[in-house]
Formats: sequence, C-alpha cells, structure tokens
Amino acid sequence: MKKNSQIILDDLNLWTKYKKGLCENCEGLCCYMPVEVKTVDLIRLKILSDFHLELSQREQIKDALKHSAVSRYTPSTEKFTLTQKPDGSCFFLDSQKRCSRYIDRPETCRNHPEVGPKPGFCAYQTKSHQKA
Ligand code: SF4
Repeated sequence: MKKNSQIILDDLNLWTKYKKGLCENCEGLCCYMPVEVKTVDLIRLKILSDFHLELSQREQIKDALKHSAVSRYTPSTEKFTLTQKPDGSCFFLDSQKRCSRYIDRPETCRNHPEVGPKPGFCAYQTKSHQKA
C-alpha cells in the first residue's frame, strides 16, 4: 500500500461522504481495514460449518483460528478478525483488487460505510490518484 493511501485510511477527516456509484472508480481502501466478523459470517464463508453452532464457543474459536483467513479472536467483542496480507489488504482481496468472496462477504463489508469508523463516510480514493 502506498503511503498516501495509508494517510487517508488513518485520518477520518479525509474521508468522503458516501454516495451511490462512488465505488466504481475507487481504489477500494475499505478492503485494507481490519474486518471484524461473527461466527455466522465464518459459517457463510465456509470457514466454520453449521455443526459448529452445536459446539462450545471455545471449540468454535479454536477451529476458526486454524484457518489462515482468521487472525484473531477478541473476547470483549466476541468477534474474529480476518487476516490482512502484508500490504494491509484483506485475505480475500484478489490480485484484481476484487473481493474473491463477494457473495458470501461478511456483514461488516455489506454494511460499510453505514457502519464503520465514520458512519456514512468512506476512505474514497480514485484509481487515477493512486497511479499518480
Ligand atoms: S471480505 Fe471481501 S469485501 Fe470484505 S474486506 Fe475482504 S475483500 Fe473486502
């Protein structure tokens, strides 16, 4: 990730009010933020199975953390965090900067930016800006 992109991600004052169509020309920095997910998201992503709902939370956590897409579990929020690659991108972001699991993506991703660090705003950056 380029330095300028990280500055935009870190400074909420630089975020843009979201409107329909904004994603079409965006670099997709929202997929470079940590993504917190619930057990149901991991089941939809087939990291866990329905069977896990019958197991203890401890067993669910243990099995989820075996998967390379899951980096940690936070007891205070009872949420898992998806793994970020060395450049900060989500485990599921492909080389074309598209979500490889779009149909099954977590609720956090579905609800962004209504729910997020600055509701209604996103870390918009045009692709042309990124190349400059
Ligand atoms: S799961 Fe998909 S939409 Fe969500 S952050 Fe990862 S690549 Fe982006």
